[in-house]
Amino acid sequence: MSETSNLNIAVVGGGPGGYAAAFLAADLGMSVTLIDPELNPGGVCLYRGCIPSKALLHVAKLVEEAEQAKNWGVDFAQPKIDLSRLRSWKEGVVKKLTGGLGQLSKQRKVQYVQGMAAFENSTTLRVTKNGGGEDSLTFDKIIIATGSRPAAVPTLKLDSPRMMDSTGALNLEDIPGSLLVVGGGYIGLELGSVYAALGTRVTVVEMLPGLLPGADRDLVAPLHKRLEKMLEAILLNTTVSSVKAEGDGIRVTFEGANVKEREKVFDRVLVSVGRKPNSEIPGLDKTQVKVGPKGFIQVNKQLQTDDSAIFAIGDVVGEPMLAHKASHEGRVAVEAIAGHKVAFEPNAIPAVVFTDPEVAWCGLTETQAEKEGREIKVAKFPWGASGRAVTLDRPEGMTKLLVDPQTERVLGVGIVGAGAGELIAEGVLAIEMAALARDVALSIHPHPTLSETIMESAEVFFGTSTHVYRPKRG
Ligand SMILES: Cc1cc2nc3c(=O)[nH]c(=O)nc-3n(C[C@H](O)[C@H](O)[C@H](O)COP(=O)(O)OP(=O)(O)OC[C@H]3O[C@@H](n4cnc5c(N)ncnc54)[C@H](O)[C@@H]3O)c2cc1C
Repeated sequence: MSETSNLNIAVVGGGPGGYAAAFLAADLGMSVTLIDPELNPGGVCLYRGCIPSKALLHVAKLVEEAEQAKNWGVDFAQPKIDLSRLRSWKEGVVKKLTGGLGQLSKQRKVQYVQGMAAFENSTTLRVTKNGGGEDSLTFDKIIIATGSRPAAVPTLKLDSPRMMDSTGALNLEDIPGSLLVVGGGYIGLELGSVYAALGTRVTVVEMLPGLLPGADRDLVAPLHKRLEKMLEAILLNTTVSSVKAEGDGIRVTFEGANVKEREKVFDRVLVSVGRKPNSEIPGLDKTQVKVGPKGFIQVNKQLQTDDSAIFAIGDVVGEPMLAHKASHEGRVAVEAIAGHKVAFEPNAIPAVVFTDPEVAWCGLTETQAEKEGREIKVAKFPWGASGRAVTLDRPEGMTKLLVDPQTERVLGVGIVGAGAGELIAEGVLAIEMAALARDVALSIHPHPTLSETIMESAEVFFGTSTHVYRPKRG
């Protein structure tokens, strides 16, 4: 038995951070209590985030592909959407996965308590159970994994069922005739794409000059182009100054230098302007935990807070607010508690936008390199030269490698195109293994696959790509 087997730990919040931490702690022999208000573990990701959105995006992709099939001589009838069956399919996916986590939790003998936790002191939690009743429980260590919630904007506050956040949008109560998505980030674009595929006229409004702020512009361009065809309008450099309930809709007022139509009525409005960390945990002030100015709990590289008995992981400790970052942090925190020599210092946390085309990147981005004045070489492989992309009729994609000019080490990978979210995993491995561009170029990739675009972008770096001709200079 390891010395960790007599540790008694609590994990507050059962999302991908919390349940990953709880399960590893149990695997390492600790006695674990996992507290969350839902019936089973899963958190935002499984109940109202990653999973339901991807189930619906799968349907959206199918509808779009059926339309595109006309170009290939296959004419499908106009799809008929049975909303209640679509909803129950999505809910079935969530139930299957969260139920599975419940099972895994039982198999590992994790004590799952359905309720909300508050701090009495650094090691004692008061748990208010869903079914009623309170328990005061004391632990050796506590991991906070309380996640985040949609950010609210005062000018967009309106008590109307027509106003939605991402949770409301995923409920899919109806297919509105028109929808305004406020915020051109990944959540707004993913959910906007779902509604557009189901037949809604979708407008996206973004206050910055481009969609997906923070992502490299060359990765966003093909997505922007496709969305322009799919959506009613994309309004950039534009803000929403007011929303008012009016008859059967919401009257929205726009502001911005290029605004053509100052006011417009929409059937529904989806506000997706970011997320706020859930750090306002009752009683947290009775501990030494410090919360930063943006509301994130402050932690060190072992995910330990300023209170030595308390660790914190996931969305509540900072960006990027992504499920896989939360899970990895959860594992690091538990290993740190177990006394292993660990630190959370990844070189590449992948980001994926599951639109069509998908946009994915990891490691250094060109935007970041430019900001830091860092010298890099960029090698791009256009998917028009990829056999697989052409067979899929998706030649608009692009794969690029960001390479250190001195060492030829791969520092970053960016991909836009169908299935980019799956492909980026190779980039993560290349960066974490400190691969050189030569390693990537010399690894034989299966033909015909989109993965070849990663190998060929490395070949582009050396000017020897089979499918991209670059005339010799001089
Ligand atoms: C629409 C949408 C789509 C998304 N898509 C993706 C995606 O494709 N890929 C991706 O990586 N990320 C995605 N995300 C983000 C992802 O969901 C989060 O990054 C992830 O869930 C964070 O995990 P977490 O463990 O930190 O917390 P969460 O998943 O937020 O879970 C926290 C849990 O803690 C509970 N809790 C809070 N306070 C207490 C308390 N006091 N006591 C007990 N329990 C408490 C909450 O109820 C919740 O169940 C998406 C998010 C949204 C909204």
